[in-house]
Amino acid sequence: NDFISLGLPEILTDSLTAAGFTTPTKIQNEAIPKLLEGRDMMGIAQTGSGKTAAFGLPILAGLLTLTGRPRPLTTRALILAPTRELAVQIDEAIRKYAGTKMKLDTVLLLGGVSRYHQVKRLERGVDIVVATPGRLKDLMDDGKIKLAETRWLVLDEADRMLDMGFIAPVRAVVKAIGIKRQTMMFSATMAPEVANLAKSLLQEPVRVDA
Ligand code: AMP
Repeated sequence: NDFISLGLPEILTDSLTAAGFTTPTKIQNEAIPKLLEGRDMMGIAQTGSGKTAAFGLPILAGLLTLTGRPRPLTTRALILAPTRELAVQIDEAIRKYAGTKMKLDTVLLLGGVSRYHQVKRLERGVDIVVATPGRLKDLMDDGKIKLAETRWLVLDEADRMLDMGFIAPVRAVVKAIGIKRQTMMFSATMAPEVANLAKSLLQEPVRVDA
């Protein structure tokens, strides 16, 4: 099995080859075709499973079908992560999977660093925002980011986000995004709080296990 047979466009399979990826992992095999169909997803997966590519590649494939640059203040896809370290890793991985041929604007929104450059990037509009919930909520409250046109939403390590007390900003952010979105949630466990959040955010989700 390979990435082409999962339905990914050649520009992405080329960059995966360049990254040295030849064989999809279990979660990639199961998730990518369903996500390319536009389904919502609940993934039970840990770091190391290849989950970042499982949600990242279908988003990149979707972005490739859009023409033109994002409009000012637009965020086409939003990925939420509980910690700075994870957000940085996700951003790096996604830019690697996009490769050098795809024009992709990503911005990292992390607490504890200057907002100035984050806001400058957001003003131009971006394809993918990778954020921790606190900083994202602050920027949203100040009108610096608009999520009404966001088409893809990922909650990575949702169990940790809940453990860290991020439920209020997560819900506020989700509320700002329209319902015409594709939502993907990943968690190491299916604790009752995770199941509750999944129930309120996902529409007829496919469940995949790493
Ligand atoms: P993740 O679980 O997304 O954090 O990925 C864990 C590690 O596996 C990362 O270092 C990825 O670069 C790597 N990886 C993800 N998918 C594949 C693949 N299909 N083949 C080889 N390495 C991969």
